[in-house]
Formats: sequence, C-alpha cells, structure tokens
Amino acid sequence: MPEKRDYYEVLGVAQDADAVEIKKSYKKIALKNHPDRNPDDESAVERFKEAAEAFEVLSNPDKRARYDRFGHAGLQGGGGHQPGFTDVGDIFSMFGDIFDGFGLGGSRQAGRQRPRRGNHLQTGLSIDLPDAASGCSRTIEISRHESCATCSGSGARPGSEAESCDYCGGHGRVVQSQGIFSVQTTCPACRGEGQIIRDKCDDCRGGGQVPRPVTLDVKIPAGIDSGMRLCLRGEGEPGGLSGPRGDLYVDIEVREHQLFRREGPHLVCQVPITFTQAALGAEIDIPVLEGRHSLEVPSGTQPGHVFQIRGGGMPDPRGGRAGNLMVEVQVEVPSKLGDEQEELLRQLAEIEQANVSPHRKSFLDTLMDWFSSEDDN
Ligand SMILES: [Zn+2]
Ligand SMILES: [Zn+2]
Repeated sequence: MPEKRDYYEVLGVAQDADAVEIKKSYKKIALKNHPDRNPDDESAVERFKEAAEAFEVLSNPDKRARYDRFGHAGLQGGGGHQPGFTDVGDIFSMFGDIFDGFGLGGSRQAGRQRPRRGNHLQTGLSIDLPDAASGCSRTIEISRHESCATCSGSGARPGSEAESCDYCGGHGRVVQSQGIFSVQTTCPACRGEGQIIRDKCDDCRGGGQVPRPVTLDVKIPAGIDSGMRLCLRGEGEPGGLSGPRGDLYVDIEVREHQLFRREGPHLVCQVPITFTQAALGAEIDIPVLEGRHSLEVPSGTQPGHVFQIRGGGMPDPRGGRAGNLMVEVQVEVPSKLGDEQEELLRQLAEIEQANVSPHRKSFLDTLMDWFSSEDDN
C-alpha cells in the first residue's frame, strides 16, 4: 500500500483550520475531481476518494484528535476499521449533500420517491378600466383536479388495492451500473409511482383525481394593466405523493374605455373646447376617473395642446407613483352660426374651416353620459 499523504496537505488547509475552512476546502477539491466531471480519469477518482477520506477524519472532532496525536496509525486501532473509501457511491451516501445544486451525482439515492408539485393552471380575467384603477375583487370559476371521492385518491377500485411494482420493487426507480457509476432512471413499468393499479377505480380511471369546478376569489391590485399576470399560490393542480399544489396564473385583460386611453401608467383623454374658449381662455369640465374635474384653459390655447394632471392616471400596482392624466384639447369649429356670430367672425381674419368628424359627435354623447352618470350617484 502506498504511503498515505497527510490529511491537512490533501485538503490544503493548515493544522489549526476550523470546521468551516475544512468543509469549504473539501467541497472545492471534491467538485473539481467529481467523477461526473472527469469521466475516465482514474487519477481524479483517486483524488476524489483521498479528499473524502481526509474530510471524513478531519470533520470528526474525535477522529481528528486521534489523527493529530498519532497520525495515520492513530486511526487503525480499536474496531480495526481502516479509513478510506473503495466505492464512490459510499462517498455520495455519506457526503452527498455537498454536491447538491451542482447538477452532479450526490445525494440522490436509489428508491427515493420525491413528492411532486402539482401542475400550474392558467386562466384569464377581463375587467373595466375604472375597476383596474381602484382595484377590485372578482370571483372566478375554474376546473381543476381534486382527489377522487370514490377511491379516496388511491386510483384503485374500492375494495382493491394498488400493488407494489415488481419491476422496481416499489422504489419507482431502477439502478443500472456502468463502471463505478450508478445511473438511475424512472421505472418504466410503473412510471416512477412504485405501485401498479390492476383494478382501476371507474370514476377516475386509476388516476386518483377527477376534474371539479372550483370558485375562487381573486384580489386585483389597483393599477393593474393588460398583460399582467396574477399568481394564486397553491391553487393549481394537486401534487403527487403529498407534494404541494401547483399555482394558478390569472392573465388580466383591462377592457378599452370610451374616454380614456391608457399609455402605461398614464391616461390620455381628448376634450373638445370651442374656438372662443381656446382663443379667450375658459374654465372647463374634464372627465377624470372619479367623475369630473375643472381645468383652467388659458387664452391662446392651441388645438392638440396637452394638459398634464399629475397623479390623475393609473396607480402603480407595485406601490410607486401614480401616472398622469393627459388632457388633449380639440378645438371645435362652429358648424352653425347665428347672424351676429357670423357677422363678428367675418370681421376676423379668415379661419380655415374643418368638417366636424362624425366621431366627435358620438364622443360628445359619451362624455355627456359620463357626466350624467356621475350626477346620478
Ligand atoms: Zn377514483
Ligand atoms: Zn416500478
């Protein structure tokens, strides 16, 4: 047998290194020489085993004390157990958690069935803009799987039972050896369930679950926008082997509004003013989410001018600053004039005439509805 190297030297730590340092150093060496990363490299496997042996001794205060006093000889007496690993699998079963999160062979063990999270579900929900602005709650109905009442979720016809899978011995996984590696795969016979149902429940066809309608309350935060997605944790499909339920995703659609157009957190609305109001200045009523608001239009206001009302837009669903309301004025050109008006206008410089678009009339009607509905409240 070749001369054993000093354990501190193997791990590259000082004699007085503490437990944290030792573990850290071992982890580094073990990851570097991990068999999954060094296929067909015998010397890496040797270093991997050597480091595990050194770590086994130095991470155990009792063994470390004996090693400090007597060296390698101090570990041979007593039970006659010689430290060291002949099988990489033993290292995994002993220190496997070291490799968790690195995608390497480690703590996974044959025959271990892990609880599975249930599938996520998705649904959609449409709301009106004022509800999106204030926040609201809605009741939705979805269909999701619940445990089958007939067989209590076992999948087996009442009076019968699921049988342990012969192929994998109930483990759900089968192990194949390839050299020093053990490769585990899901059992093809039972698809990892570990058991086989021969006499299936009629209601769920052996699945143990049946679709059922469920009603849920959804709280919608103020300021939500189309395309945003709410997550209802644990409201998805049930998990397997007592695993947690999946989540339910609710995709939100905010319906278009007749008066307000949304631009991110901001709202844009168009308000008609008369030619004289624009020219001379006026105080006008404008629609806001809560009803109406009065706006000072200064004299000489140009068509298309946008007035910004800070905070008059949508709230931020994440609690930030609210958006603005942008009021774009549309200057109306009078279509009918009294004799006196006409006479006065004829005395002004020539003004370009524009046809009143039919769109504007229906818009005005909508605006009047908005104001009158506010008066009703
Ligand atoms: Zn059933
Ligand atoms: Zn099986």
